[in-house]
Amino acid sequence: SPSRFSVIVIGAGISGISAAKVLAENGIDDLLILEASDRIGGRIRKEKFGGVTVELGAGWIAGVGGKESNPVWELASGSGLRTCLSDYSNARYNIYDRSGKIFPSGIAADSYKKAVDSAIQKLRDQEDDDDISTAIESTSAPKTPIELAIDFILHDFEMAEVEPISTYVDFGEREFLVADERGYEHLLYKMAQEFLLTSEEGKILDNRLKLNKVVRELQHSRNGVTVKTEDGCVYEANYVILSVSIGVLQSDLIAFKPPLPRWKKEAIEKCDVMVYTKIFLKFPYKFWPYGPEKEFFIYAHERRGYFTFWQHMENAYPGSNILVVTLTNEESKRVEAQPDAETLKEAMGVLRDMFGPDIPDAIDIIVPRWWNNRFQRGSYSNYPIISNDQVVQDMKAPVGCIFFTGEHTSERFNGYVHGGYLAGIETSKALLEEIKKERKNENQTFLLE
Ligand code: FAD
Repeated sequence: SPSRFSVIVIGAGISGISAAKVLAENGIDDLLILEASDRIGGRIRKEKFGGVTVELGAGWIAGVGGKESNPVWELASGSGLRTCLSDYSNARYNIYDRSGKIFPSGIAADSYKKAVDSAIQKLRDQEDDDDISTAIESTSAPKTPIELAIDFILHDFEMAEVEPISTYVDFGEREFLVADERGYEHLLYKMAQEFLLTSEEGKILDNRLKLNKVVRELQHSRNGVTVKTEDGCVYEANYVILSVSIGVLQSDLIAFKPPLPRWKKEAIEKCDVMVYTKIFLKFPYKFWPYGPEKEFFIYAHERRGYFTFWQHMENAYPGSNILVVTLTNEESKRVEAQPDAETLKEAMGVLRDMFGPDIPDAIDIIVPRWWNNRFQRGSYSNYPIISNDQVVQDMKAPVGCIFFTGEHTSERFNGYVHGGYLAGIETSKALLEEIKKERKNENQTFLLE
């Protein structure tokens, strides 16, 4: 018969690891972590590129310098992670049009203000009326390339300027880019080391962590959960903590038997999946301006979101000659579906618009595919502005013996690394409470008998 565990944690991203750590520290010794891919980290993922380490997933520790301390910033400080401050605010003064002219800062500032006003108006319209079409047709909608570019940055890239974002309110407005050869994922390995058997080189040897275990079925009842994996293994547990992304929950990768109740399915459907793609380009030498206030620049094109937001990596890794361009949603899906050579050609076209025909071709490119990765299906969750708290409450509420965690279950910090980290802790604490109650009931029954 299959082995039975107290708790099985599904997924070894930051939320799964933080959840498992809390359980282990509270005496749950017979736990098992099942991870579909061949590594821990999930959406925190480094890659060697052009001689340095780049972050294909989460790159920033967002929310630093405020009243409260961001727990992920504390982890980073504790392990000496190398970071550098990012200041996007200058980007609006480095806006290029298609002929390579930089918009005078006055125009850029005007467009910026107009985009912010239009965004605020949109929010008000949505509050007044659930019908989004009225908001989009409102007269202040962005139209010119520069307005479109700024609107894209506010909504698809930054999001922070139009509503108070709890990350900045609680933890402060500064953001630090992780620029460490060990990668952002070093924080996860440090956490794992504290409760899993690890080799001197930091490799996890503990047999409570199983990689390449793709969970395909959760059969659940009042008495526990039977977990089936793609390779035909069967595990049993009193409880499961499910940390897979919102995109995976929306897909059919995992079959629930019986199916999830209607309220849970509705919450899962209501939450949007954002796709966010950082394309890295390596060049033989620099041809872009660098120095103070030049780290971020914008390309204004009549097609919204077309290679709009750029960053050079000179601050993070001097002499690396690397540029990063961020695409989102439909543009992300479009480039994921085409060969990288095509994407490289498009990016070079855009760079030649900005910097002239004589610049050298990129010698290497990475196009991460978060949308097509069946263990991710997107980059992070985004609750519609008009959705109420109930959606998040339903998202994180357990279904019988299945407890839900992950960044998408974080009430205040969904979409962020610290959201995933804190969600894992919160979910495990809730489960420990449940186990305590269960034990008390058992004891009472025992005494009555
Ligand atoms: P995940 O990391 O997705 O962990 C879930 C795990 O479950 C994965 O390891 C997955 O392989 C596994 N899994 C999936 N299906 C199965 C299955 N069937 N069986 C077993 N295992 C399974 N956040 C920030 O704070 N700052 C940033 O700058 C930032 N930038 C980002 C940029 C990008 C491109 C992306 C993709 C994300 C970014 N984020 C950022 C968000 C941040 O990365 C996530 O919020 C966080 O890492 C999510 O952690 P998680 O544990 O909830 O999910």
